[in-house]
Amino acid sequence: MIAGTGIGTCRGTGVGLDVGPGAAAETKSLAKSPPPDLAPRTPAGTTSSNPANDTALKLTGRDYISWSAISTFRTCPLKYKFRYIDGLEEETVSSALVFGTGIHTAIEQHFQANLAGEKQPTLDQLMFAYRSAWLPHEPEQVSFGSRETRESLDDLAGRMLTAFLASKHAGVNGRVLGVEEEIRGKLVEGVPDLYGRVDLLTEDRDALAITDIKTSRGKWSPEQVEDSGEQLMLYSKLASEISPGKKILTRFLVLTKTKEPVVEEHVREVELGNLQRTLAGFERVWRAIESGVFYPAPSVMACAGCGYREACRAWSG
Ligand code: SF4
Repeated sequence: MIAGTGIGTCRGTGVGLDVGPGAAAETKSLAKSPPPDLAPRTPAGTTSSNPANDTALKLTGRDYISWSAISTFRTCPLKYKFRYIDGLEEETVSSALVFGTGIHTAIEQHFQANLAGEKQPTLDQLMFAYRSAWLPHEPEQVSFGSRETRESLDDLAGRMLTAFLASKHAGVNGRVLGVEEEIRGKLVEGVPDLYGRVDLLTEDRDALAITDIKTSRGKWSPEQVEDSGEQLMLYSKLASEISPGKKILTRFLVLTKTKEPVVEEHVREVELGNLQRTLAGFERVWRAIESGVFYPAPSVMACAGCGYREACRAWSG
């Protein structure tokens, strides 16, 4: 175990690292399988060297906090409470979330084959993986956009995955260290461990790259790249001990949901000295959760895709 850090064993790579235990704007992080916020609850009796993990365990049934949880709280504290404190099942699930999960599952399979040294899956095999994301949901539970149908989304998925396979980003610079790697560790005193999954972890001669895969309605602006960087900054801090001395890159692969999909890459070198602001925000969110400060934060973007609209209407403080 790397001191202070838990990161999942890089499957099939021989990189000997210990395994740590095991969200709806238009441009959103693709859900994982399972996403950190839906990772299994921590078994009773688990011990930890971080006292704040015990507080988290009592509050949420998990002895850590995920980026999805932080992000959900920042979007709407009441939504956070419904999902993480009350454990309420969502009344509906947005088609964008299921679609994103499907694309993510397919691309994960693509890079898993690379990691295992196996033959690259075909488009049909990737589409099979994509479709698996729809299986857990009853059709009437899925909330589609006004111009969407399951068929139109399947067609879009086929075009996006075709564009991905034809792009240079289907290849890997250097070698794959891990796909969907669990990562965990204490970042701030008094705050539970951050737990998450890295979509793709790669290494070449000079750098370790932490890649997050996104779907988006369109190409990203520099501001979107900037605004989306906090999660990877924190993961970089946790991963910085994997390859001491190497620079760390954060990398977004953005697949656009446009008529003719494209795959964009946004790479940045991490300056760990610039982490302070992100860490301060991370701590403040936890302090608010710990204090039980939960209130509705209605907005067009957040409420349109929220699965707790009925529970929210019934809430009275
Ligand atoms: S409907 Fe809107 S205000 Fe209510 S919980 Fe959901 S996101 Fe928050």
